[in-house]
Amino acid sequence: MKFSDLGLSSKVLAAVEAAGYETPTPIQAQAIPHVLARKDVLGVAQTGTGKTASFTLPMLSLLESGRPRARMPRTLILEPTRELAAQVEQSFEVYGQNHRLTVALLIGGVSFADQLKKLDRGADVLIATPGRLLDHFERGKLLLTGVDTFVVDEADRMLDMGFIPDIERICKLLPFTRQTVFFSATMPKEIQALADQFLHNPERIEVARPSSTADTITQNLVSSGGKPWEKRATLREQIEKAEDLQNAIIFCNRKRDVATLYRSLNKHGLNAGALHGDMDQTSRMATLDNFKSGELKLLVASDVAARGLDIPSVSHVFNFDLPTHAEDYVHRIGRTGRAGREGVAISIVTRGDTKYLDAIEKLIGKKIDWTADKPASFDSEEEKPKRSRSNKRGKGNARSGKKEQDGKESKEGREEKQSRPRRERPPREASKDREQSPQQPRQSNRGRRSGRDRDDNQVIGMGDHVPAFLLAPIRPPKSKGSKKAKADIAE
Ligand code: AMP
Repeated sequence: MKFSDLGLSSKVLAAVEAAGYETPTPIQAQAIPHVLARKDVLGVAQTGTGKTASFTLPMLSLLESGRPRARMPRTLILEPTRELAAQVEQSFEVYGQNHRLTVALLIGGVSFADQLKKLDRGADVLIATPGRLLDHFERGKLLLTGVDTFVVDEADRMLDMGFIPDIERICKLLPFTRQTVFFSATMPKEIQALADQFLHNPERIEVARPSSTADTITQNLVSSGGKPWEKRATLREQIEKAEDLQNAIIFCNRKRDVATLYRSLNKHGLNAGALHGDMDQTSRMATLDNFKSGELKLLVASDVAARGLDIPSVSHVFNFDLPTHAEDYVHRIGRTGRAGREGVAISIVTRGDTKYLDAIEKLIGKKIDWTADKPASFDSEEEKPKRSRSNKRGKGNARSGKKEQDGKESKEGREEKQSRPRRERPPREASKDREQSPQQPRQSNRGRRSGRDRDDNQVIGMGDHVPAFLLAPIRPPKSKGSKKAKADIAE
């Protein structure tokens, strides 16, 4: 199959050739003709499969006829994060180099005035994150009744980030006769329900089994002691041993661990940067650019900060922490081995991680090889850590303890995602711009979103009577704590 067989315009074909692409990827070969025929498409595809071009290329061809009107974009693409939205804008620059189309980007962290200017000129393509889009709409600066093609990218990520109600609202503002293109790496029931509601007789395209990992990625497990300094030593050893390591993304489960690990790696003379949601947009973009240009060799990142980023040639992915959600494993290691390249993914596994490992192996449908023999103690039930006292006591931890036993989710281990629980509709004013900095929910959202905060108001296991001493705040001794923290980082 060649690009020229797909029905794309000559301007688009010239840009594709200039980009150096020889053959369409499977998602492109399957999706492009349907998008060009203005059909609804439901695409199940991981990042790295070339899915961005599978909708941008046909959209460019379709946009060649017609002109935009002020404040009435002709097409709309929704992305869950600012970085992804900016990446899609870059794709339009590359693939649309022979077109004279206006592309507007509506994301947080950028002045409304500049965005308004573009909208006023009339946008052929509007790329937006849901919160900022609705902000513009509510200010009366935008009309969505002229949208012919509507694309929802990374729908499962939107679900994770609590954006589904926003998407439902946006869908209702669009003309009924529009074309809808929906992409998701996985197809949980909530996404299927959304697709059933808003897509009309869609062509379903699935290029890889949902939650499968690319064959071009060599996956390995390495055992480690569970203490942070032991894991850091294991990681350094793996980085030193890694063959052909050009650059690597190192994933942590918690954003505070991203910061600690980043400092530790630099202390040990390794050239690392960090990407987490507490950083402002400018430093996130600067770090990302340094990593892309090769100035930074290692990038320590959290899931939310790194999800979907297109960094074309990452040779290695390290899981400093094994993700507590099996699907995150697929997304993380999908940063390497992209577009047919070879990649290596190495995960550090501690004895307490075996339940997560089981879930990952079940999801991807295969066993992952250990670099050395799997330690016998990892299999031994008796040697598994006993349930902590706090788990037995209930209140907050009792919940996470229960979920951990179920092998599903550790809320404690998903600090970033706590701020965006599934299917929760944040209050309108509090939801504004929330995708600008996923890990910096506004103060007003904190109490509502955080599982831990929610639990503070509940009494579990004690009935109505709680002794006063249990309600007193716990203050750890300052001097001891800070010494320990310093020692931890110094390691
Ligand atoms: P995506 O899945 O859209 O994030 O794309 C992943 C990477 O594949 C990007 O770096 C694209 O530039 C690259 N890519 C997309 N389509 C092709 C193609 N047909 N041939 C080679 N590389 C491609």
